[in-house]
Amino acid sequence: RAKNEGRGTCRRYDASMGAQIRDRRMLEHDLRHAVARSELHLVYQPQTQIGTGAVTGFEALLRWVHPERGTISPAVFVPIAEETGAILEIGAWVLREACRTAAGWTQPLAIAVNVSAVQLHNPHFVQFVHGTLFETGLKADRLEIEITETALIRDPGRALLTLRQLKALGVQIAMDDFGTGYSSLSNLRSFPFDRIKIDGSFIKAVHTNPQGAAIVRSVLGLGRGLGLSVVAEGVETADELSFLAQENCTSAQGYLLGRPAPIERFTAHTHGAQVQGAQVQGAQLQGA
Ligand code: C2E
Ligand code: MG
Ligand code: MG
Ligand code: MG
Repeated sequence: RAKNEGRGTCRRYDASMGAQIRDRRMLEHDLRHAVARSELHLVYQPQTQIGTGAVTGFEALLRWVHPERGTISPAVFVPIAEETGAILEIGAWVLREACRTAAGWTQPLAIAVNVSAVQLHNPHFVQFVHGTLFETGLKADRLEIEITETALIRDPGRALLTLRQLKALGVQIAMDDFGTGYSSLSNLRSFPFDRIKIDGSFIKAVHTNPQGAAIVRSVLGLGRGLGLSVVAEGVETADELSFLAQENCTSAQGYLLGRPAPIERFTAHTHGAQVQGAQVQGAQLQGA
């Protein structure tokens, strides 16, 4: 009997493994058509200046609405798209769509776009960015490319060359998810970053967590010392934000300041007054 149960367990295990593999194959297959079938769209999350509350830019975040399964997280499908190479077509769509959108704003806000290792190592990538800026009319200094340190390890020499060429175009470069994965301080020195994004995991309850606080303080110090601006990601509470303000962090992103949403939700920022404070002042002056 025990033997039977054992086999049964084993069979169930095999069946679920098989289901997982089928599931993944299906996603791989469906991803190949996602661009052509217009199943992808971007949502945008504001980046805010701490203190004034002014929105300085937006990060574009990819969403896939699968016809049968509904919305699938990029944390699930981007790694699959990287493995199959589908990320090249998808990433090209993302960059073009984000640049086209930002070029339509009346305010010269920044647009941050996530770029994967596969894209960064593609020999045509810099030319493609250049072409996209030209085609959409977006000024290069409004585009910020976000890459993780993981994207640098496979071929650091090639990554350095590509980042230098992007800098030469006038594009800004941010190191995403800083502090996770393969963090190495020498990356900050060797690669031409403009900005560090502190990973949200360090921001969580930072006001009550001495380890998190020490790490955030030291990254802010690094930023100051190296002349890089620092953005805190994943800010969810007012306590976290006031800790960051107290530590002179100048920029933040997170659910507290705005959840990722369709860009139409942010028309007041993209097409209105640039600084929230100034808007309020203006309204007061008009009223007076
Ligand atoms: P990321 O670039 O670090 O983006 C930040 C992630 O944190 C986003 O998840 C965002 O929705 C989420 N987030 C923002 N504020 C908060 C907060 O206050 N609390 C919490 N818990 N989360 C917050 P999302 O949109 O699911 O994206 C996950 C990751 O997928 C991104 O991490 C990025 O690595 C990747 N990704 C997203 N869009 C693209 C894309 O267009 N291309 C590539 N290559 N990767 C993308
Ligand atoms: Mg990012
Ligand atoms: Mg991040
Ligand atoms: Mg991330």
